[in-house]
Amino acid sequence: MCGIIAYAGNKPAANVVLEGLKKLEYRGYDSWGIVALADKAENAERPFYVIKRVGKIGGINWDYVSEAIRGESHVAVGHTRWSTHGGVTEQNAHPHLDCSGKIAVVHNGIVDNHQEIRAGLGSHRFLSQTDTEVIPHLIEELMSKEELDFIAAVRKAASTLKGRSAFVAINSETRQMAAARKGTPLIIGLHENSNEEFFIASDVTAFLDYTNKVMYIDDNEMAVVDGGGIAFSSLTSGNELKKRVVEIHWHVGSAEKDGYDHFLIKEVMEQKHTIAAAINQDDAKILAVANDVKSAFGTFFVGCGTAGKTCMVAEYLFSKISGKHINSVVASEFSNYQHYLTPKTLMIAVSQSGETADVLEAIDVAKSKNVRVVSLLNVFGSTMMRASDDFFMVNAGAERAVVSTKATTAQIAVLTLLAYATAGKLQEGKLLLMNAASAVNDMLNPRYEERIKKLALQLVDKKDVFIIGRGLNYPIALEAAIKLQETCYTHAQGFAGGELKHGPLALIEDGTACIAIVANDETKQDMISNAAEVKARGGYIIGIAPENNEVFDYWLKVPDVGNASPIVNIIPVQILAYHIAVLRGINPDYPRNLAKVCTTK
Ligand code: GLU
Repeated sequence: MCGIIAYAGNKPAANVVLEGLKKLEYRGYDSWGIVALADKAENAERPFYVIKRVGKIGGINWDYVSEAIRGESHVAVGHTRWSTHGGVTEQNAHPHLDCSGKIAVVHNGIVDNHQEIRAGLGSHRFLSQTDTEVIPHLIEELMSKEELDFIAAVRKAASTLKGRSAFVAINSETRQMAAARKGTPLIIGLHENSNEEFFIASDVTAFLDYTNKVMYIDDNEMAVVDGGGIAFSSLTSGNELKKRVVEIHWHVGSAEKDGYDHFLIKEVMEQKHTIAAAINQDDAKILAVANDVKSAFGTFFVGCGTAGKTCMVAEYLFSKISGKHINSVVASEFSNYQHYLTPKTLMIAVSQSGETADVLEAIDVAKSKNVRVVSLLNVFGSTMMRASDDFFMVNAGAERAVVSTKATTAQIAVLTLLAYATAGKLQEGKLLLMNAASAVNDMLNPRYEERIKKLALQLVDKKDVFIIGRGLNYPIALEAAIKLQETCYTHAQGFAGGELKHGPLALIEDGTACIAIVANDETKQDMISNAAEVKARGGYIIGIAPENNEVFDYWLKVPDVGNASPIVNIIPVQILAYHIAVLRGINPDYPRNLAKVCTTK
């Protein structure tokens, strides 16, 4: 979701910010803007250069920006917006300014009490429908009515806001840049022992090209950058805070498409290597967390969307492999389980970005009950990593497409390893997954993609697709439905194979497409029967299975990899959704209305 990148230093600031915004594009957004503070004092009348646009940044380059800002600037802030309050318009894009035009603000998150604050700012002139716009006006009000200086006004304004937010404000008179964090991340990038350059960003990818030295702004803290360097303080007490410089040794991975038309298909193909990378874990740590699962009184696997489905896969894996009952819970529902939490409970939180607001809230709930939290992440240095007692990286490398593919299978691989470790069979689990990794490598060849492309041509005009699976592959049927919904906008629904007869079978007509995920395990016969029930009512059956069967109208072969079947079974659907999207003229990297990093509830 929304991204913030701010810069103060000796480089042309708007340019650094534009490049940073391009790096943050993957988070998902609908509009963007840049505010640059003019270098020259004679520009006092019009101290800010502002660009705002609806849509994607696309090929916009430095020439375009320099023309728009028409001058030199060494302090600038950029923002990609994922609208929550107010339509997707240029007016609503950030930055937002106060009445005097001297304070500019970009913001991530939601100001829950914006109506109340706006009501108290009656004399101020508002130009947008956003919740954000109350922030610059509130700072202005506090500076004039209460005669606070800029920093004190920012602190008080930030403390007044309810909900999860982060914002950066620039004051053109004092030439100070202030960043405040309440629940949504902001990270400082800097050159150690040098007061010459500072970056402030929602995530490190925005500035990793320039520096890997960071300082974290924690919740309820603020940082101020000005000619004198950087200072941190508490939002509540105002006390000064000392911060450590941390070096990030993490490679974002290639942000290029490497010859592919889209990030999505590039990332699908990267699964040739990412499964092997995912299982490259520290044995001692896997065993320690396996022990945590064994000794916990209740383990909750918590995630949202696709990560929620990998948690469901874990529920089946732990039951089948280690005979252990664990619970998978959708993060936004987790607080409803708080009555079961004790200090003996364990939470395993799963998120690609490590910034998902719903999961962070679930972690807050867990922490309030002294629950131990272990995270499974793909982004190093994320808020979840720092909020957890321990963490695993799934090592999938940067995932740029909004739709998750390689991070999903990497999560499933680590969870499978953990299930085997909990059963005291870590080596067996490793062998199984190494075999699956090499099977995926073989499977992802051009002929395979061609066969799926042919199927995409058949399905391109279908409005509905049903997907059925059982056991380990029931959650994969649900995940397959998410893939089709978000990538190519097909109305897709996943069901447990046995559930169709309890209602959805009534929707099957002549030619209705139904994907049957048939693993070569104890669920096979029942799955074949379920597929036959659909076929008997006119359904067109697409079988995803290691072996062909007469019930299949179209067969997509997958390798037989035993309990690692969820990993290989989702891959053909990822490719299918991609090709249907391309045939429909949809950009599969940036589905409408969705964001990769969901920082709002
Ligand atoms: N709530 C703000 C808006 O709708 C910020 C959204 C965001 O995080 O991008 O403008």
